[in-house]
Amino acid sequence: MKRELGIARCGLACCLCSENERCAGCGQCADRESCENRRCSMEKGLAGCWECPEDCRKGLLARGKPYGFTRFAGLYGVKALLDCLEANEKRGVVYHRQGIIGDYDECSSIAELFRLIETGERR
Ligand code: SF4
Ligand code: SF4
Repeated sequence: MKRELGIARCGLACCLCSENERCAGCGQCADRESCENRRCSMEKGLAGCWECPEDCRKGLLARGKPYGFTRFAGLYGVKALLDCLEANEKRGVVYHRQGIIGDYDECSSIAELFRLIETGERR
């Protein structure tokens, strides 16, 4: 885990991304010019979508993992999310197993995703 890369504006975990050897986050993301979450959160003066009061599913937030990560960070803080992701990496939870899909993408609900983030277990 490259903790210093943190969480992207959309909730993706740059710190755990399999591409993070050559990409350092939003400023280098291939989708940055068209990204709704980057544009919108910058316009609102927010560090990321987790600071936004709206329950929004725009852009990357249509997907469960970044949506759940932003909700978790909004409730408990980015540091708490990073602490959990770091502990889970040590427990063997895999962020990117095949391409950009991993254990956090397999949760069927936000409650299940929160449980995985907090405990490393889905059920
Ligand atoms: S998709 Fe958007 S918010 Fe997410 S890392 Fe890329 S530019 Fe940043
Ligand atoms: S959560 Fe939605 S409305 Fe809020 S900053 Fe992100 S993209 Fe914009």
